[in-house]
Amino acid sequence: MNSVLYFDYIALPLYVVLLYSTFARRMTKGRSSRLFILVLLISVTATVCDIGMESVIRNPAFGDIRVPLAKIFAYGYFLFHNGTGFLYYLFIYSITNTWYVLRKKANTLLISIPFAVFLVALVLNPFTGNCFTITEDMGYQRGPHMVVFYATASLYVIFGLAHLIYCKRFLSVTKWLSLFSMYVFTYGAVMFQLFNPHLLVELVASAISLLLIELVVLRPDEVIDSVVGLMSWNAYQDTLRKIMITKQAVQILVIKFTNAREVRTYLGEERYVKYIRLIADKAIALGTLEKVHLELFFEHPGSLYLIIDEHDFDSQKAIPLLVSAVEKYTQDLKGTGAKLDPKVCCIKFPDGLNKQREIIHLGHHFAELMPHDQVFIDALDINKTKEFQIINNMNDILTRAIKNEAFEVYYQPIYSIWDHKFISAEALLRLNDDRYGQISPSAFIPEAERRGLILPIGDFVLDAVHKFASQNELEKLGLSYIEINLSVAQCLEKELPNKLTALRNKYKVSPNKVNLEITETAENIGNVMDDNLKALSEQGYTFSLDDYGVGYSNIQRVSKLPLKIVKIDKSLVDNMNTPSGKSIMNNTVRMMKDIKKELVIEGVETQEDYEALRKMGCDFIQGFYFSKPLPAQQFIEFLKKNNFQSEEYRLNESQA
Ligand code: C2E
Ligand code: MG
Ligand code: MG
Repeated sequence: MNSVLYFDYIALPLYVVLLYSTFARRMTKGRSSRLFILVLLISVTATVCDIGMESVIRNPAFGDIRVPLAKIFAYGYFLFHNGTGFLYYLFIYSITNTWYVLRKKANTLLISIPFAVFLVALVLNPFTGNCFTITEDMGYQRGPHMVVFYATASLYVIFGLAHLIYCKRFLSVTKWLSLFSMYVFTYGAVMFQLFNPHLLVELVASAISLLLIELVVLRPDEVIDSVVGLMSWNAYQDTLRKIMITKQAVQILVIKFTNAREVRTYLGEERYVKYIRLIADKAIALGTLEKVHLELFFEHPGSLYLIIDEHDFDSQKAIPLLVSAVEKYTQDLKGTGAKLDPKVCCIKFPDGLNKQREIIHLGHHFAELMPHDQVFIDALDINKTKEFQIINNMNDILTRAIKNEAFEVYYQPIYSIWDHKFISAEALLRLNDDRYGQISPSAFIPEAERRGLILPIGDFVLDAVHKFASQNELEKLGLSYIEINLSVAQCLEKELPNKLTALRNKYKVSPNKVNLEITETAENIGNVMDDNLKALSEQGYTFSLDDYGVGYSNIQRVSKLPLKIVKIDKSLVDNMNTPSGKSIMNNTVRMMKDIKKELVIEGVETQEDYEALRKMGCDFIQGFYFSKPLPAQQFIEFLKKNNFQSEEYRLNESQA
């Protein structure tokens, strides 16, 4: 056996293992992965040809077919080996998200020229023998035009290197070095082999480099969502970043399933994933049908992001097809009755949208900002709305608000049906921004929670309410206590009892003047919360459960918490105009009464609802029917006017 083949014998299993691990790690999604697999397949074939050629060329056992067989292997080797260089060059374009350059036909043509020249030389070789010859007596011999093979291969090395250097800022150093290693290794090997033609080290050198790329660059944990097996949200962000830098014109279709969470709960994880994958397959097939290249990404719980290379793709035409795919697969999951509800937003980049943050916020929030009966919306229609501008600039708004102390606490009176007067109030935070005016807490509280700013904001509310209570004798106004919303982060803060003790001492407000509202999501998160509730209960604070009826309300959990009051969410009130809605409210009230909870009904807007709730036996009513949340001074005026019948108040007033 010829000793020079040892290197190929190492390369062959290396390529096979690489192929196996690429599939085993499910690195098959997206253009880069597919190109990488192609590079591996072609490299394996080139290695097989190289081994084949060297094995038969001097082996008399092959008899007459020795030379023709060696020639087939030789042509195969050169074709596939030079093809690898070309494909790797394309892979560089794909992995750096600069594929858009190749969308211009002139560019594709230009970069294909060296490969075409090589092909011409290869095709002419059987007639001229100028590149190489294989004869019975001499074996494999290089000809004068062999330089064409090397020159064209070298051009791809030069092109690739130049492009890689240009794209340095898109990649981390480790990834960049791994991609770069291919050129260092293989070019080194080519040079080495030029002077040592009997040592076939080229293929093993590129195999080692591809191993490095597989380990460092193609990381499924970074780009593949482990649950659904599609490209992940992280990969989307990374791709978006590269698109921003290169300013390539693309179209992004965001398909958001607004009821994804519910459908997932209903179908179970496995069937839900199948459902999502079927829709994703349909979207990809649609791209193929429309002859556009698209990359598809998934974000939990149910958003698909389609980055389409074609900026002017008529997406509106494609939407009905996608929506019908959702319908079709709903039928496939027959018997379940669950159907994902899609909303689609088309973002054209750069067209007026040029910030990554803006595009990400659009994807997250467009569905809540578009008309309910509409499925499709152009991002520009969302982008210009004030609501979106607020969401998009929330970071600046919150920073400004904290700096300028732009928060203010409003109070919404709560009416006691038994006492015929306003007996308490809920403290509700307002943010007055210089640029956008008053901003709803539903917009800024979740954002403040995400950014870890909720604790200082919550502290401000606690302080403001205590101060208000100490400055205005609540009893004289007819008020027994004020309800304060606590966010989950506050409930989980070890310092909470100490903070309240400090405020109590500072403002001389007794704990029974303060009722703390917690939400259902805040239940059962570790011991700190339980410890806090226990400590605060012992100090004399009472608790309300806010927003009962939203999400997965659980009466058993309610009965276990140290709650004085349960607040029924507005959505249950809104449903009361249907017989079933009324019955739900009735049963909820009865259940709560059975477990001895006092009931506040939120969001009562009409006399009709008020009357119905009074008859059901509710204790307290909070809603626009009585009053919207009011600034402190107006709230006091409101109480003076409306609680005037209160004897205590009248007495105090006359003494004053
Ligand atoms: P929530 O605690 O459930 O507060 C009740 C919300 O319902 C308030 O909205 C109130 O203005 C609104 N509301 C009351 N009656 C009616 C009605 O009849 N019709 C309608 N359409 N709405 C009514 P707001 O003030 O916008 O607050 C929204 C949410 O923001 C609050 O819901 C609460 O979860 C949160 N929030 C407000 N202030 C604070 C705070 O100081 N701290 C924390 N952590 N969250 C707060
Ligand atoms: Mg509340
Ligand atoms: Mg509520």
